[in-house]
Amino acid sequence: MINYTERITLLMRDVVRRTPQLSFIDLSDVLVFGRFGRSEAEGAFATCHCLTLPESEPGYFFWRDRDTGELTRRSEWFVTKSPVVRLGPKTIKYLISFVLPRFCDQSLERSRKAEFYPGAPVWIAKLDTIFHELYHIDPGETGIRRVVRADGSDSLRSHGPRFYEDVSAMVNAYLASTPDPALYDFLQHDFTGLNERFGGVVATTFRNFPSFPQRYMEPLDLPAADGSVRVEPVKPPSQPVHYTERDLHVRQFTDDKTRRLRGHHAA
Ligand SMILES: [Zn+2]
Repeated sequence: MINYTERITLLMRDVVRRTPQLSFIDLSDVLVFGRFGRSEAEGAFATCHCLTLPESEPGYFFWRDRDTGELTRRSEWFVTKSPVVRLGPKTIKYLISFVLPRFCDQSLERSRKAEFYPGAPVWIAKLDTIFHELYHIDPGETGIRRVVRADGSDSLRSHGPRFYEDVSAMVNAYLASTPDPALYDFLQHDFTGLNERFGGVVATTFRNFPSFPQRYMEPLDLPAADGSVRVEPVKPPSQPVHYTERDLHVRQFTDDKTRRLRGHHAA
């Protein structure tokens, strides 16, 4: 079977080596993992998740009476924090998730990217996505390049047309640098083709699949200013906030589900 996230990681190493704008990226700071999403469903193909966003300022939620506008209740104070992912001695700074099998079936056809790649084979859309997610890594280490949502993930609205142009220029320059086709050949197959050729598609996932490390709220022991308003506790995080290599599982992805492969160590 083909380990899809491993193949993407190997390709990324070559990409950052050959692409001056991405050469600041140390891929040992980055972990690539798989999420599930059907090919025919709408949704993202991949996402860059930043784990270095600082703890938020203290805040709270509040509720007002719809008629009087009066404060009726509020939550306790909390901060929003990034989970910690450590592989051996290394703290991971970015996660890049690929949605499988959807990403395997991404195509330039009917894509807004098509205008940047006239006459290119349809699978270039996938190479473009890989560059796109790497381009979100901020050289200033402040998070996600351009805008970021509060949960640390990247929003479709976080990039203007220049972002897409920059990415396509990098992709075209990479291909013109004559990389070894063995590194990107696997992108030429759609999901059916991959299964025929390799007998299955597996990927690194987190133990709490389909969840994964995400920003969470941590309550603060601060008094609520107005003693007369009811204070609701903040929901404790429902997912782990610390992860290590022991939390990585290899799963096989099929058209409509995934299953864990035991005895396979995730890279
Ligand atoms: Zn993006």
